[in-house]
Amino acid sequence: MMGAFSNEPMTDFSLADNRRVFEAALTDIKRLYGNSYPLQIGGRTVQSESMRPSVNPARHGETVGLVAQADRKRATEAVDIAAAAFERWKRVAPAARARTLYKAAALLRRRKHEFSAWLVAEAGKTWVEADVDTAEAIDFLEYYGREAERLCAPQPLVRLAGEDNEWSYVPLGVGIIIPPWNFPLAIMAGMTASAVVAGNTVVLKPASATPVIAARFVQLMHEAGLPEDVIQFVPGSGGEIGDVLIDHPLTRFVSFTGSMEVGLRIVERAARLQPGQRWIKRVIAELGGKDAIVVDRDADLTAASQGIVQSAFGYAGQKCSACSRAIIHADVYDEVTERVAALTRRLSIGDPVLQGTDVGPVIDRAAYNKIRQYVAAGKKEGRLLAGGGMDDGAGYFVEPTIFADVDSQATLAQDEIFGPVLACIRADDFGHALAIANDTPYGLTGSVYSNRRERLELARELFHVGNLYFNRKCTGALVGVHPFGGFNLSGTDSKAGGPDYLIQFMQGKVVSEKM
Ligand code: NAD
Repeated sequence: MMGAFSNEPMTDFSLADNRRVFEAALTDIKRLYGNSYPLQIGGRTVQSESMRPSVNPARHGETVGLVAQADRKRATEAVDIAAAAFERWKRVAPAARARTLYKAAALLRRRKHEFSAWLVAEAGKTWVEADVDTAEAIDFLEYYGREAERLCAPQPLVRLAGEDNEWSYVPLGVGIIIPPWNFPLAIMAGMTASAVVAGNTVVLKPASATPVIAARFVQLMHEAGLPEDVIQFVPGSGGEIGDVLIDHPLTRFVSFTGSMEVGLRIVERAARLQPGQRWIKRVIAELGGKDAIVVDRDADLTAASQGIVQSAFGYAGQKCSACSRAIIHADVYDEVTERVAALTRRLSIGDPVLQGTDVGPVIDRAAYNKIRQYVAAGKKEGRLLAGGGMDDGAGYFVEPTIFADVDSQATLAQDEIFGPVLACIRADDFGHALAIANDTPYGLTGSVYSNRRERLELARELFHVGNLYFNRKCTGALVGVHPFGGFNLSGTDSKAGGPDYLIQFMQGKVVSEKM
């Protein structure tokens, strides 16, 4: 059994040595740009006629890797092979499975800057955001390893005289892992490793924008000793192979993190019994958010303004937990919106390969075009306070943009934009602010800045989100510290990085013997 879990420390980039090593990693990975990444099914690499370039969002002329695309036939084959591999993997001792994760964590820790450099190149993350992503991936490996050891041990039961009763958790079967691109290492690794350490085999379909990072993680898992047929690496278009993977009768569960639209489609399809299917498919779906920070009249306005800016524009607003609504008490509304706008104007936008960059590009052209439409709509729905500029000449850059005086029912205040666009909403009083905060289909994160205990207690009771923060930003959940997942259409509240998570990839079995 390993020692107690603790979070991976962040890299201190104020130290010259750390900066030098990180710059070297950024240079070093360039020699691998343009490499090809095949499918990996049953431990075999499988070439595909169709190869898709993965590009650097800050320089869309730069290809970081060429990635094979699975077709429907390969997707079906991947599930079949994962089902065969399950028969062996499920019998490997949980402690041995956990040790694979600990070994992978150790390897990743050693190669931390290399992986973070790929996050800069393929996902457009700033140095700090990339470092956080890699640290979180290490945390997930360490945390879920320990969780597997805890849950796979016999669980306590009430004793009955004359009987021996044992309750334990066993794995489910083949899981389809469909992660998003916005935490292309941490979330992808966490979703994959949790399913695998619980004793399942998986088909990993990485996000189309960030498959190179996923391919390199799968390679790392093999280096850590994971049998090569436990993870089938099957990149491809979600639209083309998603249904095949989900509909397959041997698919036992789907672990999805992404948009509400795709998640709901998966929930619906997985509910249909297919010929030959012998179970009810489980779906773990973590979806979008329209997260709000509420600022009370007597809050620390400096802290609140900083918290809003960090939560709204970190990684260009491309976090499910990002603050996209600032709901501000009318008495301090003008002051807070002006402070937030002033701080935002100071952010530097540019290529995240440069250390001083605060806000990098958005992920791709589709995101850029979608955000452009919302910025245009925002000019009708609110008063432009900051930003509004866009430039896709070299990369997909969007200025951090703030609209004031937005109605709480406006599209800008209801739709998940998933970019650096903040709507400021005026609230008559604290109760009104909470009512506005709850009035979207989502319920992921939220934050309240207030110095009054009774207001915080009211928010504790009424603010209906899975992750609620007081007097701090609404992003930056830490594994083990802030189990993460949302209410309502934000998902199944799976609480990633918490003690309830791993059990979703297992089922409890009770054996009772008469003595
Ligand atoms: P997305 O829904 O577009 O894609 C997510 C994944 O689904 C990708 O791998 C994609 O290829 C795949 N996919 C697309 N169509 C599919 C289909 N028909 N069948 C099966 N798979 C399909 O989301 P995205 O743009 O990658 O990620 C951003 C979204 O993820 C945002 O909504 C964000 O809020 C959400 N997100 C949620 C959490 C959370 O923990 N709740 C965390 C990160 C991101």
